[in-house]
Amino acid sequence: MDNFVFHNPTTLIFGKGQLEALKTQVPNYGKRVLLVYGGGSIKRTGLYDQVMKLLKEVNAEVHELSGVEPNPRLSTVKKGISICAEQDIQFLLAVGGGSVIDCTKAIAVGAKFDGDPWTFITRKKAVHDALPFGTVLTIAATGSEMNPASVITNWDTHEKYGWGSAYSYPAFSILDPTVTFSVPKNQTIYGMVDMMAHVFEHYFHPTEHTPLQDRLCESILQTVIETAPKLVNDLENYDLRETILYCGTMALNGMVSMGFNGDWASHNLEHAVSAVYDIPHGGGLAIIFPNWMRHNLDVNVGRFKQMAERVFHIDPKGKSDRDVALEGIQALRDFWTSIGAPSRLADYDIDDSKLDLLVDRAMARGVFGQFKRLDRDDVLAIYRASL
Ligand code: NAP
Ligand code: FE
Repeated sequence: MDNFVFHNPTTLIFGKGQLEALKTQVPNYGKRVLLVYGGGSIKRTGLYDQVMKLLKEVNAEVHELSGVEPNPRLSTVKKGISICAEQDIQFLLAVGGGSVIDCTKAIAVGAKFDGDPWTFITRKKAVHDALPFGTVLTIAATGSEMNPASVITNWDTHEKYGWGSAYSYPAFSILDPTVTFSVPKNQTIYGMVDMMAHVFEHYFHPTEHTPLQDRLCESILQTVIETAPKLVNDLENYDLRETILYCGTMALNGMVSMGFNGDWASHNLEHAVSAVYDIPHGGGLAIIFPNWMRHNLDVNVGRFKQMAERVFHIDPKGKSDRDVALEGIQALRDFWTSIGAPSRLADYDIDDSKLDLLVDRAMARGVFGQFKRLDRDDVLAIYRASL
């Protein structure tokens, strides 16, 4: 493995009833709070009222930014930055999923940034400060609750990019599995695909000798594979929701990826698709990732074979390494299909009419991927296989 420094400053507050911790956490950061949330699920479930009650109890002055879109947009980030300036906001509280949290990260950094936030989102300018923020996570998926990453869409130009900084870790994140009971079946599935995809982005890396990291990745994958089929038919089961919520955080909080850089090409390929077609991130990954795997099988057959044997229990007896590896990829495809995830871009009515635009968007920041550098021909081949 490579040398590394590990630092994750987010305080994780996990379990039933932990929302109460808002009363001890929020006053540490100031009175004027911007509450950031999405399209209304927190109002329907009563979480909004619970959060407001707790914030009132500590005499917080609450301002609101609602309507953060799934695949959050630059325009909403700018709206939030304006509120921070107008109301002299001291602390932001994101109550929602990865979209709300990612948007809050960009607002928190943007509020202390002189200039257009798109310049730091596109990594053209460095950031040096941020307002503090915390999160109440409502869906298991992105890991954004305990990492510094944020993904923002510029809908005017159909560009969607990930960025991150040392200043965009949440100060704290509250994860109560009961809050995720109301996540609909399709979003539950997308979330589980996304967390598995995060593990795969780590698993397929070019660094040699990462035995513990491999086992950590495999354990998260196996846990999701055991839990997901039960959860999709039992959405209010506490133990299953708890397990998946913990998996989502562990998949992308840096714990399993010390000592190497992950690949992240499949995420880049998916971001280009959702930038143009606004599809759910996990749905896009379920379509693209197995095709990325088949395309890159020969880069390191042994790594795919290891996944096939250890994660999907493929019996290697009498088979070539390549066949075992291919069976593993097919097992992943079958697993995602079995829990109800999409398998083709056609499932979202996407045809080949904008393939050139998709390739342009994916290539906008140059060749990408660590396990295998992808050029235009690779990208086109993977999209074609995904149609
Ligand atoms: P999301 O976009 O935050 O939420 C998806 C949908 O689920 C929304 O319509 C939301 O409704 C609903 N929802 C959330 N919690 C709910 C609940 N408890 N009950 C009922 N409905 C609920 O989903 P996400 O998968 O967490 O985030 C996706 C975004 O994160 C994408 O933009 C993706 O690119 C990005 N991402 C970020 C990272 C990272 O590390 N930062 C990693 C991977 C992906 P409301 O809007 O009404 O609340
Ligand atoms: Fe993701």
